[in-house]
Amino acid sequence: MSQASASIPATSSPAALHPLPSYLQEDKLGPWGNYLQQVDRVIPHLGSLARWAETLKRPKRILIVDVPIHMDDGTVAHFEGYRVQHNVSRGPGKGGVRFHQDVTLSEVMALSAWMSVKNAAVNVPYGGAKGGIRVDPKKLSRGELERMTRRYTSEIGIIIGPNKDIPAPDVNTNEQIMAWMMDTYSMNTGSTATGVVTGKPIDLGGSLGRREATGRGVFTVGCEAAQHIGMEISGARVAVQGFGNVGGVAGKLFAAAGARVVAVQDHGGTIYREAGLDVPSLLRHVEETGSVGGFPGAEVIAKDAFWDVDCDILIPAALEQQITTANAGRIKARMIIEGANGPTTPAADDILQERNILVLPDVIANAGGVTVSYFEWVQDFSSFFWDEDEINARLVKIMKHAFAAVWGVSQDQKVSLRTATFIVACKRILHTRELRGLYP
Ligand code: GLU
Repeated sequence: MSQASASIPATSSPAALHPLPSYLQEDKLGPWGNYLQQVDRVIPHLGSLARWAETLKRPKRILIVDVPIHMDDGTVAHFEGYRVQHNVSRGPGKGGVRFHQDVTLSEVMALSAWMSVKNAAVNVPYGGAKGGIRVDPKKLSRGELERMTRRYTSEIGIIIGPNKDIPAPDVNTNEQIMAWMMDTYSMNTGSTATGVVTGKPIDLGGSLGRREATGRGVFTVGCEAAQHIGMEISGARVAVQGFGNVGGVAGKLFAAAGARVVAVQDHGGTIYREAGLDVPSLLRHVEETGSVGGFPGAEVIAKDAFWDVDCDILIPAALEQQITTANAGRIKARMIIEGANGPTTPAADDILQERNILVLPDVIANAGGVTVSYFEWVQDFSSFFWDEDEINARLVKIMKHAFAAVWGVSQDQKVSLRTATFIVACKRILHTRELRGLYP
């Protein structure tokens, strides 16, 4: 192998001969540009594997689909959908599907690339993929949502499958949507293919613990990091942006461990309580009303004041590009745990590092969801289901182990935890890339 690989020329071509297509160029602002900057920061640390690094800058496969559906009022509406497989060197593509009015191809490309890095960081045998539809699902009836989900699944059916690419929930998608996706794929292939998506209802091959897994992973790495920097969780003040499946669960676990959740922001408002919010009641309020807005007994603060809140731990658990140069200098927290994907821009990352604020990056901090997705997929293949204690114990073990490795690299090489995670993950991806070799 060493002889063979020594004779393989580097994959990178001079930019002048093969410029990246415009949609892949870094100077286009947005999540994909941010991801490319993160890759550039890791390249000097890849040793001989750096010759394959161009692979990380080009998604393997991009599918754009038209999703036409009959609306309830008799009209026909068209939505734009995407599925991007960034890398499949280590295994089938894996990553969620997002329904949101702001979804763009650049965003889905970045999210798929972060899945490659995340899956390699926790060493689950997957590549990275992501999908999305540009739609505000809150404006659709249940019937319209089902028809859109089914048509989208059918359109991307040519590239997904239990051994090809396995979607899962992400922003605004849930167990019911996974059930429709599983059914549509199964109908089209004449099979009962539970392993084609994860995050399914328990009665349809879903896994215990999957719903809470991302938040549990956020909590687990947060506790590990707190130990390293001598921070007590009990009594720590926590601010959370986004109080859904990730932020809500993380907030609940931190509160149960004695932390004070002092501020929460979501699309419905920003609330604050110095003595700590009653998290179980807040979760019930969100369940009933759809947002934290109007929660009794909390002070309402301005949206932008969220970033000034006096806290020890900040958990962005909503969307990308929230922590920017406009607010990074104001954040009071000692530690930021990225529950969302891509919440911090590279320029903001630099400010936080200069200010000695520890950032636990998305690609490790929110990897708990896909880790239990992996358990779900394994259980579906073996048709043998594990109990919740076993799932949580295995999840915590993987998260702690992965975090310890990343922490070690960051200390040894004096780099941020984000760059350390990229070093660990990109080496794994590019090593398999090299082992597999170029076809033909
Ligand atoms: N959407 C989640 C993420 O961003 C989970 C993906 C999965 O389970 O495949 O990590």
